[in-house]
Amino acid sequence: MENVVILGNGIAGVTAAIYTARANLNPVVYSGPEHGGQLSLTTEVENFPGFPEGIQGPELVERGRKQAERFGSRFETDIAVEFKKHDDHYHLKMSSGKEVKTKTLIITTGASARWLGLESEEKFKGRGVSTCATCDGYFYRGKEIIVIGGGDSAMEEANFLTKFADKVTVVHRRDEFRASKIMQDKFFKNEKTDVLWNKKIVEVLGDDKGVIGAKLEDTKTKEVSEVKCDGIFLAIGHIPNTKIFKGHLDMDDNGYLITKNTKTNLPGVFAGGDVQDTSYRQAITAAGSGCMAAMEAERYLNHLE
Ligand code: NAP
Repeated sequence: MENVVILGNGIAGVTAAIYTARANLNPVVYSGPEHGGQLSLTTEVENFPGFPEGIQGPELVERGRKQAERFGSRFETDIAVEFKKHDDHYHLKMSSGKEVKTKTLIITTGASARWLGLESEEKFKGRGVSTCATCDGYFYRGKEIIVIGGGDSAMEEANFLTKFADKVTVVHRRDEFRASKIMQDKFFKNEKTDVLWNKKIVEVLGDDKGVIGAKLEDTKTKEVSEVKCDGIFLAIGHIPNTKIFKGHLDMDDNGYLITKNTKTNLPGVFAGGDVQDTSYRQAITAAGSGCMAAMEAERYLNHLE
């Protein structure tokens, strides 16, 4: 029987591991397919306190892992495929076939950015196609960018990107945004932004240096056109990795876990990081909520005793 099982080894998971390991709880961390979480997909992180020169996302999370290992955290690669509540513990079935029993569970499985699913998008991932303006915007000083999406994230990312780019065009598949009015107002007031309505991207265009444009299709007339750009940012939503908890844990309509101070509706089950965060989604907030989840798990175990 484990004291603490942590699912996910992004920055929230490794922070939870550092804290529970330092509380002598001997945690085990299972990492899924996205080793290191979304930070592992980014380049330079400039806003994590303590790194005035910036730090590469993968390095930040790897250093967190080493720190957690230093205090005795165990890291294993295996994916939880089934979750069950038993009287006084939880039971996980792993993809390897292994069965894991634990008194507490910390879910830090994150949320994966939604991608369009185009072959050409795959080819230019990290070479002009990005899902994170805060991570990659800096590289587009004086350039032209398109942002795909019509929600709050698209407005936020487009506005943010105007700090660097000369022009940011939002490409949306309908003729109205679903974003909140206040976010739209900010977007329309910004002199560097523009919008292309009723367009969907059908191909990312590029050369050996990276993205040079996009082929768009009009969703009403089906007419195909081309637009020049140096980067394409996708803001078409995230998919929280909560599938195995459906029917067990409270979630919102988008599948994000509903938590109160990282506590879920089940005693002993806590969540931190993007899997329960619909508004901040930053490395530092993920680390912070990973720490909170660890402290709540420790308190819960103390109560059990
Ligand atoms: P979202 O609200 O689900 O919006 C996703 C957008 O992407 C929609 O406009 C959707 O188009 C479009 N889209 C989805 N799949 C697409 C596809 N395959 N091709 C082209 N377009 C596609 O997601 P979000 O903007 O990430 O927001 C998620 C949640 O976080 C929301 O509750 C939002 O309010 C919140 N949020 C809040 C803030 C803030 O308040 N500061 C900032 C960011 C996010 P349709 O409209 O046609 O469906």
